[in-house]
Amino acid sequence: MRHFPIFRDLRGRRVAVSGVGETAVAKLRLLLKTEAKITVYGINPHPQIRSWTEAGRLQHIPRRIDHGDALCAALVYGANDDETEDAHAARIGHSAGALVNIVDNLEASDFITPAIVDRDPVTVAIGTEGAAPVLARRIKAETEEMLAPTLGTLACIGQGFRDAANALPHGRIRRRFWSRYYDEIGPRALAEGGEEAVVLALETLCSDILVEDREIGHVALIGAGPGDPELLTLKARKALHEADVVIHDRLVSPEILELARREAIVIEVGKMPHGPSWKQSDIDALIVEHAGQGAHVARLKSGDPVVFGRLDEEMDALDAANIPFTIIPGITAASAAAATIGTSWTRRGRNAAFRLLTGHDVAGFAEHDWRSLAQPDQAAAVYMGVRAARFLAGRLLMHGAGAETPVTVIENVSRLDQKIISTTLARLPDALIEAGITGPAILFLGLSPRQAMDASDTLELPATGVL
Ligand code: SAH
Repeated sequence: MRHFPIFRDLRGRRVAVSGVGETAVAKLRLLLKTEAKITVYGINPHPQIRSWTEAGRLQHIPRRIDHGDALCAALVYGANDDETEDAHAARIGHSAGALVNIVDNLEASDFITPAIVDRDPVTVAIGTEGAAPVLARRIKAETEEMLAPTLGTLACIGQGFRDAANALPHGRIRRRFWSRYYDEIGPRALAEGGEEAVVLALETLCSDILVEDREIGHVALIGAGPGDPELLTLKARKALHEADVVIHDRLVSPEILELARREAIVIEVGKMPHGPSWKQSDIDALIVEHAGQGAHVARLKSGDPVVFGRLDEEMDALDAANIPFTIIPGITAASAAAATIGTSWTRRGRNAAFRLLTGHDVAGFAEHDWRSLAQPDQAAAVYMGVRAARFLAGRLLMHGAGAETPVTVIENVSRLDQKIISTTLARLPDALIEAGITGPAILFLGLSPRQAMDASDTLELPATGVL
């Protein structure tokens, strides 16, 4: 990050703008949102500058900017669309110690003006260091859509209520008070009864929240999907956003954790395969402890919590502590992996059943009904199967599975480092080593990538070996 975003206080400060054409008008439109004292320099001003001058919103001086003009100015803009004039403005600004911006000239500027979403007093500034103005425009458009036009009004009224709200106990209760206000109570009151209704609703909420908080906490057992945040359900997103405490597995991606509120306590309870791990009983105790104190806990598990997720132990612990919980399903890794290779779990005339297996269980490498799995046209997804691959292939071959049975391995499904290997049962153990598979992976037994997609660039699969 070359430019550090800050919000500069311009109340009563001087801002000098050199230039009186379209470019200057565009900048002035933004600057006029502030409480700065603006002076514009240049001859033959744009009619808009004339009318702003007549309305007393800025001062126009019909000459070139000169020494002394930038004295005590917080900012100086060069908006002449003329290199010589802009360089002159920069010299004047710098000699007066002001920060200088030359419009559309990153290298000649001390600061850049971001794209702005204005819900005063809430302001969203978007910058791409000049690298991708198109992207900035798109983010601005999306943010404009996301933030209700009434947000500014609600924030203004909320600001006036801060002292009263500060009488609430610090921490969770106060946070919940503000989220209830912004998410539900405020917008509803404003729509139904205008600003006065909002003030009344805030007062009521202030006393109600204390009663509500005596209630016990809540736990959402959430499926976070395979990694791509876009594969989260809306429900999961909402629960994550409302959580006071987020307790997550190692496989939950950083991009998803970013969606938690900044004030939320985030705890990783990682289980490394064959490495240092949190004990399940300690995880259960941690969840119960936080929810028992009244917190809204988001317990994030990778994929779907009902698939190899130790969900039952956590539900039992919550039941024992009388803590209410909800389960929010997620996209399991094998489901996303099937989408990646364009192959269905089941297919008419091929397989009418599909199994989810684990390569490991409490006893070590997991035993399964090998005889039935070894039959032709069986299909299964193996979770936690990379280390068990040699054992798994050996067992299946021993029970009569064909050496050429297709096996597809998808590592890091839906993440940027996703890798696909298309191999056979006999070659599986070596193929995994050759491809250097170390991340989480799904092994599909009896499924290969969709033929038509092999050659297509939609999947970006190289032709052979590691696809
Ligand atoms: N509840 C999870 C599974 C947890 S068990 C789910 O529904 O997906 C952990 C195993 O899940 C890993 O060893 C791996 O086999 C699989 N897994 C989880 N995330 C994955 C990912 N992004 N890509 C491939 N496999 C993944």
